[in-house]
Amino acid sequence: MKPVHVVGGGMAGSEATWQLVRQGVPVILHEMRGVKETDAHKTDGLAELVCSNSFRSDDHRTNAVGLLHEEMRRLGSIIMEEGDNNRLPAGGALAVDRDAFSQAVTKRLSEHPLVTIERGEIEGLPPEDWDSVIIATGPLTSDSLSKAILEETGEGELAFFDAIAPVIHRESISLEKAWFQSRYDKGETEAEKKAYLNCPMDKEQYEAFIDALLAAPKTEFKEWEADTPYFDGCLPIEVMAERGRETLRHGPMKPVGLTNPHNPTVKPWAIVQLRQDNALGTLFNMVGFQTKMKYGAQTDIFRMIPGLEEAQFARLGGIHRNTFLNSPKLLDSQLRLKSQPRLRFAGQLIGVEGYVESAAMGLLAGRYAAAMRHGRQLDAPPATTALGALIAHVTGGHLDGGKGSFQPMNVNFGLFPPITQPTHDADGNRIKGKAKTPARKMALSARALDDLAGWIRDSEAG
Ligand code: FAD
Repeated sequence: MKPVHVVGGGMAGSEATWQLVRQGVPVILHEMRGVKETDAHKTDGLAELVCSNSFRSDDHRTNAVGLLHEEMRRLGSIIMEEGDNNRLPAGGALAVDRDAFSQAVTKRLSEHPLVTIERGEIEGLPPEDWDSVIIATGPLTSDSLSKAILEETGEGELAFFDAIAPVIHRESISLEKAWFQSRYDKGETEAEKKAYLNCPMDKEQYEAFIDALLAAPKTEFKEWEADTPYFDGCLPIEVMAERGRETLRHGPMKPVGLTNPHNPTVKPWAIVQLRQDNALGTLFNMVGFQTKMKYGAQTDIFRMIPGLEEAQFARLGGIHRNTFLNSPKLLDSQLRLKSQPRLRFAGQLIGVEGYVESAAMGLLAGRYAAAMRHGRQLDAPPATTALGALIAHVTGGHLDGGKGSFQPMNVNFGLFPPITQPTHDADGNRIKGKAKTPARKMALSARALDDLAGWIRDSEAG
């Protein structure tokens, strides 16, 4: 059987490769790292997590990303399997040891007899004799490939900014001021409760910190980048501070659900949280502290935080341009480029946001391409599932397909069709209508998993 070419060995490309080889289709996986770097990746490992080490909530009953985890598990996802195998304590979230996770995915794919990994940049559109290609080169797609895609699609560029939060060596954090505790003591085990470190600030310290953020030198954008918006779920802290002096106190620095054991009677004015970043517990990342401040300013300003006066940074924050396609207009329901159907797209490049969502789109692209190699066409999962709701967003199920209306999305229950019948659950809670209450979310989740089971049955029988 002719191989499928997968370009990009990140979250989506690794998952797409796995789904293909599970179904007996050989894959040539092209990854440029090792030969050419990106601005954000640090290693040449497959499925490297560029910023946070969290796959977010793992609660599939009331959270849409948790539901997406569960659906992917049921479809044999390598990203979820290795995420679970390399899980770190993090309360209700699925956090992973980023190095061990990436190494495990790399090992399984490179040792698979149907996978060939070729290191090197694909510089323009892939050669014409590659009859089935999945392009999953992500938000940091190399310039030459981005240009070729833009020329082919004739579209103006769509872009926004994404930022990275710093990572700190645990031994450099003072436990005389900081303390271990998860917000609202979430988590069952001691380890889960100790997955977060907290640094308290009083009012004066907070105000001085905000002044420093506002005055700090920031990375300058080139002129052509000036109008590019930020992804709202990933705003740099200094941009939040510019929106209002209290914004951070109501956002990543909110002082709720935590008690300072060093001073239990005084409620902190603001709290900086750090989350365990590796299995050894030697690294912690600053939760929600994405930043575009210059490196020197970052170290000076973050050392103003009580407990971080001597902080040693394993990685500083940064900001990167993030490109995506106008997918509702350009792609068909199988994620293929309408003008060149041999080219299928997946991952963040098609307009989803997040590690799990990117991998999910790789999963579908891999399954679509595998079905086609076996002479079948696989329909999209029902729009009532998390996978189906996301793909409907990407392929324009609920949009006019016009440029400008399409923006990258995290999965959320707002993308799901509301429940119309039955109107109430067995306990009498109203479930008809938009997902706002836990009862409605649980009903949406149960419907999704039922409908997914039907789709798996049909797609595997077909
Ligand atoms: P990637 O995982 O980036 O994989 C793409 C791969 O393609 C890379 O390995 C790259 O080296 C390779 N490649 C690129 N061009 C070529 C080429 N021409 N030839 C061969 N190979 C090529 N999501 C979260 O959930 N949490 C976060 O904290 C988070 N932080 C982010 C921070 C930044 C700066 C950015 C840009 C994104 C962030 N994201 C985050 C969003 C996104 O979910 C991740 O970027 C995710 O890794 C995207 O998956 P992907 O497979 O589409 O791309």
